[in-house]
Amino acid sequence: MNTSSTLASSVQELEALHILQVYRRTPIVFERGEGAHLFTAEGRKYLDFISGVGVAALGHGHTGLADAISAQARTLLHTSNLFYHPLQAEVATILAARTGLDRAFFCNSGAEAVETCLKFARRHWFSQGLTTRTKYVAFTHAFHGRTMGALSVTWDEHYRAPFAPLIPNVVFADPNDVAGFDALVDDTTAAIIVEPIQGEGGVRPVPAAMAAAIEAACARTGALLIADEVQSGSGRTGPFLYSQTLGLTPDLIALGKALGAGVPVGVAMFSNAVAAAATPGDHGSTYGGNLLACRAALVFLEALASPALTESRAAASERLFSGLREMQRRLPIIRDVRGAGLMVGVDLTCDAAPVVAAAFERGLLINRTSTTVVRLLPPYIITTADVDAALPLLEDAIVAGGTVQ
Ligand SMILES: *Cc1c(COP(=O)(O)O)cnc(C)c1O
Repeated sequence: MNTSSTLASSVQELEALHILQVYRRTPIVFERGEGAHLFTAEGRKYLDFISGVGVAALGHGHTGLADAISAQARTLLHTSNLFYHPLQAEVATILAARTGLDRAFFCNSGAEAVETCLKFARRHWFSQGLTTRTKYVAFTHAFHGRTMGALSVTWDEHYRAPFAPLIPNVVFADPNDVAGFDALVDDTTAAIIVEPIQGEGGVRPVPAAMAAAIEAACARTGALLIADEVQSGSGRTGPFLYSQTLGLTPDLIALGKALGAGVPVGVAMFSNAVAAAATPGDHGSTYGGNLLACRAALVFLEALASPALTESRAAASERLFSGLREMQRRLPIIRDVRGAGLMVGVDLTCDAAPVVAAAFERGLLINRTSTTVVRLLPPYIITTADVDAALPLLEDAIVAGGTVQ
């Protein structure tokens, strides 16, 4: 494969000089996209089963989204939160109906949404005079983002250690150890924070026993529950939230990724009880909820509500899971197939990196999390035909990548 085109190499040379080197990029430059496919300038075509890490939910080059944001750009893009505009309330009303939490705070990323939830969990207790009720209980293998607060409840030492000291009073529970978790939650716990399906941690759904224990611990101690649905939410797994599947009743929810379908949008959803502590000046964001971001979220939420899309993505998910389970029977190298809807992890008995590379060579985009897990986060617009095209490429890649090691 030609990865050394003039364009690719000049972009790489310039980036090597002028871009902070925090990403390990695959050496390819994409020029345009169409539906579930991405194209290079040389016309090479890739089937996208990672959708920009769960973001491009409506696929690429979506005409409805493109038309709406270009019309919005011609009308009004940004006025700041000094003034009203018509769209925040419109998005918030839909989100309230879909999440069961009444109030939204708009920001620009998942980490900011998490940060907002963490801050207002403490704000809730502070306003009751409980200034020492500040503990956060998070989970091992959790990923909540890169800002200092979100990083403090992120588990992986590789992410944390270079930036210590982080915020104090964070403890981590093992999602498979209910007794250990119970011992950590007490009346000094401000909030429990959980990803209903751990994304970066290897596509691991919260076990049913732990979901029940979380609800019980909140009832027992009054601790607030923050659901980080940045990756698992916004319909990624079928229902709007994976919390709904688990029977979790969060007080705060962080949303991001798919919600803007490619335009940066983060939202923290609040129960009225937690929101009651907020006063003007407590928090804010210059860009948060601007007209461009809200327009994109509206297009996404409308598309998500379409019965045709609901049906086609359920069919695609079913085909994907059944195909992967059949593949697992053929290939002992597949240890587990996990996830829900269009958030899927294929856990291997070996490093998944060579498999991801082999898939790329075959024109299929996927990625690796948690060393051994191939993660699939396809756009919601994929069809069963796209799944049928992806499965043999993935199988070949697993066979090829697995034998390299
Ligand atoms: C991606 C992710 C984040 C961080 O989102 P950013 O938009 O990168 O800040 C937080 N939590 C979870 C669960 C995520 O998957």
